[in-house]
Amino acid sequence: MNKRRIAVIGLGRFGATMAQEAQANGMEVLAMDINEDKVNEIADHVSEAIIADSTNAKAIAAIDWRQFITVVVAIGSDIKNSMMTVIHLQEAGVPDLWCKVQDKYHASLMKRLGVQRIISPEEEMAKRASLSLRFPDMSQQMLLGDSQYLAEVKIMQRVDKNDFLHAIRRQGHQLVAINHKQDKHYQPATEVPVCLYPGDSVLLLSNANESKTREGFVWPSLTS
Ligand code: ATP
Repeated sequence: MNKRRIAVIGLGRFGATMAQEAQANGMEVLAMDINEDKVNEIADHVSEAIIADSTNAKAIAAIDWRQFITVVVAIGSDIKNSMMTVIHLQEAGVPDLWCKVQDKYHASLMKRLGVQRIISPEEEMAKRASLSLRFPDMSQQMLLGDSQYLAEVKIMQRVDKNDFLHAIRRQGHQLVAINHKQDKHYQPATEVPVCLYPGDSVLLLSNANESKTREGFVWPSLTS
């Protein structure tokens, strides 16, 4: 079976990490940068690494971009270069284009151009980190669209089934799965144990906007 191929243009911290991780996860990666040192640094970790200026139409035309399922443009700090690269790649027929952006202005330009996925790493990370600060018992959370979260919440104190279910219902969460007695796996939440204890954890689906209009996110009170 052919390996899935992607290309990453711009090998700063974001692009280089993305390229190396994708290769380590079993994909074939073409990495490109205008800077020779960046290309040499990554050459041993990806399938192919080339030095080229992606704003140069001839350099782009020298590659068959349709062989890649996705092309990631990770030139964050130079919006002009980022835009020119995206335009050339669209003209070359790239079906799925992801772009790292530095700010809202950059993001709105990329949206206008019809880029498939816009990534703002600093903003996304800051949102996650601020939630972790506010709710230390929330071990991870995944934003689903703009208004929903899937959250893994640690049980910090013993809580009875009825109190637990009542708190969840009152706060507008949906219980998705439970990891009880430090089992290795989550089980679907079809049956809730009589009691939950520290060491247990739950997966909750939450409507972020609804929760915020009450007392902020309310994970801690699940266990009080
Ligand atoms: P980081 O991911 O480190 O936050 P950044 O988003 O701030 O990076 P830059 O450091 O400006 O972005 O650029 C990322 C990489 O893109 C650099 O290695 C740079 O050499 C490369 N780059 C910039 N312009 C071009 C271009 N026209 N063609 C190819 N690579 C380019």
